[in-house]
Amino acid sequence: MPLMRSWVEAANAPDCDFPLNNLPCGSFRSEDGEPHCGVAIGDMILDVTRLEQDGLIQMEDEEEIFFYGDWTEFMSLGPAAWAAFRATVTEMLAEGAADAPGLVDYLVPMAGTEMMMPFTVAEYTDFYAGKHHATNVGTMFRGPENALPPNWLSIPVGYNGRASSVVVSGTDVRRPWGQLKAPDAELPVFAPCKRFDLELEMGAIVGVPSEGPVTVAEADEMIFGYVLLNDWSARDIQAWEYQPLGPFQSKATATTISPWIVPKAALEPFRCDTPARERPLLDYLKEPGPMLYDIALEVGLAPEGKAETVISRTNYREMYYSSAQQLAHHTTSGCPMSTGDMLGSGTISGPEKAQRGALLEITWGGKEPVTLDTGETRSFLEDGDTLTLRGAALGDGYRVGFGACTGKVLPALDDPYKR
Ligand code: MN
Repeated sequence: MPLMRSWVEAANAPDCDFPLNNLPCGSFRSEDGEPHCGVAIGDMILDVTRLEQDGLIQMEDEEEIFFYGDWTEFMSLGPAAWAAFRATVTEMLAEGAADAPGLVDYLVPMAGTEMMMPFTVAEYTDFYAGKHHATNVGTMFRGPENALPPNWLSIPVGYNGRASSVVVSGTDVRRPWGQLKAPDAELPVFAPCKRFDLELEMGAIVGVPSEGPVTVAEADEMIFGYVLLNDWSARDIQAWEYQPLGPFQSKATATTISPWIVPKAALEPFRCDTPARERPLLDYLKEPGPMLYDIALEVGLAPEGKAETVISRTNYREMYYSSAQQLAHHTTSGCPMSTGDMLGSGTISGPEKAQRGALLEITWGGKEPVTLDTGETRSFLEDGDTLTLRGAALGDGYRVGFGACTGKVLPALDDPYKR
């Protein structure tokens, strides 16, 4: 598919994240201080909440669905409503649109506008579906013979995370305290995390709710769109707490998402297959078609007040399980899924060292520190570091981008229990 041209000139630049082909959904703080729903186009945001108030957009049979500046209710309407909305906005913003002059007043410059959480996170589940990541981490934690657990090639392994600590890009993240136990120590201590890390992931956002088991094809239909996701991870807390029930406090400090939900419709031209299987999947996990996406990803790390270094470049197509497979597996027990459920893909690492999506892997547990362009080295994150995830599906002369997913590490409190 070629670039679709818009009368918003910036949207036609080949390096712009938000051409007419994209139309991602976000929430921004409007001039009146309230959150409004917006669609990104070029360097502007189309104020959907105001368009609805003025009667220029109306979802069938729905009154003021965008009033609260949150996309959750819209996402619950399902694929037909999503397509109708997308067609309306595409027509409004296309080059040559008759009503363009009247719409200029509904555009807000992106620069200087505060982005807010675009939807209400119902629940958050995180997976472990990257084979390179699982192999690397397993090798470090359990040795090369036991790198992949016996279930890994059959099950999209996951755990139930916390919806309450999901934050939007730009939110500072404070280094947590927790139980740490050095390998040679007999007992744990309560102290600030020393091995604070990122995980480069994609988040799939469920629009249509379900009750009871769904197929992979049905699961794909339920997904509204995707965000970039940084699953902040306290590796020293994780190493001590994770057996036998998996991560708990090590993953509960914060999970940052990019502010724009890229609709699945915008990613259609970029679908690709999951890799060949070395063990056949059970029937309910088999994909009827390509369910992954070709999305180039990168991670930048900037020390306080200094220039950024890109520490990883990889691609979402490296995953072993798609989000649709993960969602289908999530329902096998009869577990109901809700509008606003978010599924983290698991860390996305490629086969090469420069393609690893976590410092744990890049520095091999801190043993091989990475050198930044500033000359400094990092084993894990330091206070004042700003991390930025970026991602885009690359088309012919255009890109479908996600915008930046950033967060800065604040120093740990002196002692969270000293009051
Ligand atoms: Mn994770």
